[in-house]
This record gives sequence, C-alpha cells and structure tokens, in this order.
Amino acid sequence: SKTGWLLDLSKLTLGENIGSGEFGAVFQGEYMGRKVAVKNIKSDVTAQAFLDETSVMTKLQHRNLVQLLGVILHNGLYIVTEFMAKGNLVNYLRSRGRSVITTVEILQYALDVCKGMEYLESKKLVHRDLAARNILISEDNVAKVSDFGLASGDCQSTDNTKLPVKWTAPEALNNKKFSTKSDVWSYGVLLWETFSFGRQPYPKMSLKEVKEQVEEGYRMESPENCPSDIYAIMRLCWEKDPKMRPTFHKLKERLQAELNKHE
Ligand code: ADP
Repeated sequence: SKTGWLLDLSKLTLGENIGSGEFGAVFQGEYMGRKVAVKNIKSDVTAQAFLDETSVMTKLQHRNLVQLLGVILHNGLYIVTEFMAKGNLVNYLRSRGRSVITTVEILQYALDVCKGMEYLESKKLVHRDLAARNILISEDNVAKVSDFGLASGDCQSTDNTKLPVKWTAPEALNNKKFSTKSDVWSYGVLLWETFSFGRQPYPKMSLKEVKEQVEEGYRMESPENCPSDIYAIMRLCWEKDPKMRPTFHKLKERLQAELNKHE
C-alpha cells in the first residue's frame, strides 16, 4: 500500500543501544515479534531527505541488502530495519582475525556484497558510500549492504566536504561524477579491507596524500596473504578510466569462479 512503510509506534519495543551512527544512536528492538534495529534521526534535514526516499527503499528487496521495514514519525524519524546480529564487517573481521577466518569465508562475504551491489546496479541506483563499515552481518552469516538510504539515481549534488576520500573514485572526488563505476572503485577498496581483516585503507597516508597520489597513479599494495587473482580484481576496480572497470555482474562471476577454486 501507499503508506505501508509508515509503522505503528505502539507496536515497537525499544531495547539496548547497539551502536552509534553519524545521525544518532542505533537500538535493538522488536516490531510485531520480529527483531529489528532502530535508528533515530533528529536532524530535520536528514530526516526529510530520508523520508523522501523511504517509499522507494522499502521496495528494494534482496538477500544482500539490509531490509528497510519502514519508518515512524516521532521525535524526528525512527528508521526500522532488519536486525543484523553480528554487527558491521570491519569490527567483525577485526575481532575475529586471521586465525579463525578462512579465505572461503572472506570470499563469501565479498561475493554477498557484490550480489547486493549487482542488484542496485540493475536498478540504476548509486550507493556513494560503499565501505566495509557499511556492511552488516546477519545471525546466519550473510553479509548485506546497508546505508543505501541516500543512494541516488542522479549523479550530481551533495557537497564535497563529507566524502569518504579513501573510498571515493577520483572522478567522483574531483568532478562529483558518481556512478555505478565509482561504486565499483569503492568495492575494490572494500575488497582490500576485507582481505586485510578490517585494516584502515592506505595505512599511514593522510587524506591529502591519498587524493594526490591516487590521482598520479598510486594504488595500494596487495594485502598480506591475499590470493593474486583477488588482488588482480582490486586493480581492475581501480582503473583510472571508469569505463575500464568491470560491472558488478562481471565481478560476481569472477568472485564465484575464485570461490569454486577454493572450495
Ligand atoms: P551511520 O550510517 O548513521 O553512521 P550505521 O547505520 O552505520 O550509522 O550504524 C552504526 C552502527 O550500529 C553499525 O556500525 C552497527 O554496528 C550498528 N547497526 C546499524 N544498523 C544495524 C542493524 N540493522 N543491525 C545491527 N546493528 C546495526
């Protein structure tokens, strides 16, 4: 229905605080018997921007996207999504580390993310903030893309000041040319983060250095013990010319082939 995304406050039970985001705290909760995560947005501007996209977002459904269940208008805006028991991918990888996580497992997370992005690609939606911190892990170990809330079909707008420099493609940083291909660049950085067990990309480099040196052709080295075929995929994602970068569809095929080799 037209307002199916508007949820009923009286059916929501709020539980403990499970995280804090850019726009406010995140709580665990329950909505009509289902475990959910609830984010409260108090900023009017952000709440309105989110609300404008809500009806579209509730229609986006994929195993590898964190499902938006709906919103509640109360003290600003409450955003209700499916609950992701294992939290974000960066913390998950850091806390478990090399000794317990296998290459197969990491490849599965990478493939999960790729499938979610292939779906957004098919809908011509651009994420703009794809990074391991925005990937969440479910109770049953499925990786899902989150924060596609302000994903956008058009390729302009937003100011430059808040861009995640280490994840953003050069043409997006310089000329605001956001596209599925700039998401592919970010995906390459996410692959690097994943295969380095949650390390900060471009270690020891300042944002200014990253911006300048990447422009001149510098690229991150392979993470330790990363299969060379996987590093080759990262390098494809970091082609200077966006047209030379693979599609998420193509990336999915390559990662699936890698996974088959390792299983
Ligand atoms: P923001 O994008 O506003 O910075 P996030 O959505 O990244 O905030 O949320 C911050 C943290 O809260 C995440 O890193 C994660 O640990 C936790 N979190 C967010 N959404 C969920 C969810 N659906 N299930 C479980 N934990 C979540």
